[in-house]
Amino acid sequence: MIVERFFMQTLKVRKIVHHTAELFELQLERGDIRFKPGNCLALCKDQVESRPYSISSGVTEELLRFLIRIIPHGEVSSWLAKRQPGDEVRASEPFGWFRPEQVKPEQDSVFIATGTGIAPFLSTLRSSPERPPLACLYGVSLAKEAFALEELESLANFQLAVSRDAAENHFHGRVTGLLTQLPLGPQIHYYLCGLDDMIDEVSEWLELHNIDYTQIHREVFFYADEAR
Ligand SMILES: Cc1cc2nc3c(=O)[nH]c(=O)nc-3n(C[C@H](O)[C@H](O)[C@H](O)COP(=O)(O)OP(=O)(O)OC[C@H]3O[C@@H](n4cnc5c(N)ncnc54)[C@H](O)[C@@H]3O)c2cc1C
Repeated sequence: MIVERFFMQTLKVRKIVHHTAELFELQLERGDIRFKPGNCLALCKDQVESRPYSISSGVTEELLRFLIRIIPHGEVSSWLAKRQPGDEVRASEPFGWFRPEQVKPEQDSVFIATGTGIAPFLSTLRSSPERPPLACLYGVSLAKEAFALEELESLANFQLAVSRDAAENHFHGRVTGLLTQLPLGPQIHYYLCGLDDMIDEVSEWLELHNIDYTQIHREVFFYADEAR
């Protein structure tokens, strides 16, 4: 990713919290960074390698938090996972066009995420808890990978789908198995984030159900083909 057109800054690592062997929360000191829910920072391993990561913290929190999956042999995710408190990470200014908080007061939103794709929705919920989505669907492979579950479960219409585990109290299957329960309507904006397969499938389903494509907002983090 080319990041030189961004103003770069150096942020100190406050903490790394390992959620599973592959999933961790990176906490960075915030400095004077201002961001909108849904924004990313490009985090740099060195002068060449950088990747975008979506901020998961709320806009008034003291720290910047990121939810990151370690990709086997991944240049930047593996490097970030090994940082220690006090280490420095070069970062771009916030950027991005996936902005779930932008729905107008008379409109509603629905959030659908797989994996770390929950990050921009956490930032949105933490920033504006008074405006929850009509529904939030979250798909993970294993139940232990579900992040911030209690926080999400406090939402009125939250459902977790676990595809590869026995899922007591949760839907067992892919998150797309829950689509028939989605509220549908011309005033609803649908925000989809995570794996491209899920995003394509949900977009097609919504369009088949007469949801205009201008109401479907997509942010792809990972491509299923790369994982196979
Ligand atoms: C806008 C945006 C926001 C993003 N936000 C986040 C975020 O909040 N959290 C997060 O974890 N990621 C996020 N990503 C993904 C992130 O930017 C990196 O692509 C990811 O961390 C992998 O980078 P890497 O350098 O570790 O791996 P790379 O060095 O880029 O890839 C290493 C190898 O792994 C393969 N590979 C790629 N994806 C997978 C996979 N899913 N499983 C197995 N192998 C794979 C690649 O083909 C490659 O051969 C975001 C991506 C975008 C575009």
